[in-house]
Amino acid sequence: MEHVRCNLCGADDAVERYPCTIQAGEAGDWRAFRCTHSGYGWHHTIVQCQQCGLVYTDPRPDGHDIVETYQAVEDPLYLEEREGRVLTFEHHLRPLERITGPPAGRPLLDVGCYTGVFVEIAGRRGWQAWGVEPSRWAVEQAQARGLHVVQGMLETADLPVAYFDVVTLWDVIEHVIDPQGTLRQAHRLLKPGGWVVVHTIDIDSLFARLMGGRWPWLMEMHIYYFSRHTLRMMLERCGFGVRSACPQGRYLRLGYLMSRVSALAPLVGRPAERLVTALGLRGVAVPVNLGDLFTAYAQREGP
Ligand SMILES: [Zn+2]
Repeated sequence: MEHVRCNLCGADDAVERYPCTIQAGEAGDWRAFRCTHSGYGWHHTIVQCQQCGLVYTDPRPDGHDIVETYQAVEDPLYLEEREGRVLTFEHHLRPLERITGPPAGRPLLDVGCYTGVFVEIAGRRGWQAWGVEPSRWAVEQAQARGLHVVQGMLETADLPVAYFDVVTLWDVIEHVIDPQGTLRQAHRLLKPGGWVVVHTIDIDSLFARLMGGRWPWLMEMHIYYFSRHTLRMMLERCGFGVRSACPQGRYLRLGYLMSRVSALAPLVGRPAERLVTALGLRGVAVPVNLGDLFTAYAQREGP
């Protein structure tokens, strides 16, 4: 475990906000880092910076171990959840194109693209779509589908500078060990006036505040918990001008959604899960928006 300072303002002045729920010896299981892992309720100590308000995990597993873990992740279950993700990404692309302009063969880079679902959909829409992803297994899945996905971390991968019109981070910024470094690198790879699009969880949302320590996104694999305010401050510090930051949900299959409800509230969830199964509705995709996920659109400023 390592102690970390605030990644937004650099202060070493944080107080505990949610106590650790992991017993000694249980941490560091790489399966906790699978996208579909249901590690709800399990997390290290989560603190809040008293200077700027950023919420983050501290202490946390060593940064080098986190990177190694993401490189080694394999998650066949993710492929089964593909349908829900396709709908979510198709849904995300509409406002993206409204704000950043039509695809028209323009280069777009998806950071942490995993098996390349968004890269594939964006490519079909007419973007020149690239992806970068640490998991070797996921990159093999993407490349087998003929997608242009580079294996590695954004900071070190061989990618063209000042080339992209759009860089997207879908549910990625809360996982990276140095979000400010990641956004600065996105800035370097974007053309002047290019767009960074960040979708993440919102620790200051009404739902998060109502749920307190039972908010389902408090998880071991999430090491940063932004609000619209703290993400805006970080984007501005990295040379971006924020144009929009709005709640945006996702699509989930009913079977998957009910399993999450069962984990949170078994008395309601289990009968509902059985009903959904009996009616053959597990595969139906439904929109979910509790206001605790948001997308920020910011433009590269300066030369
Ligand atoms: Zn701070």
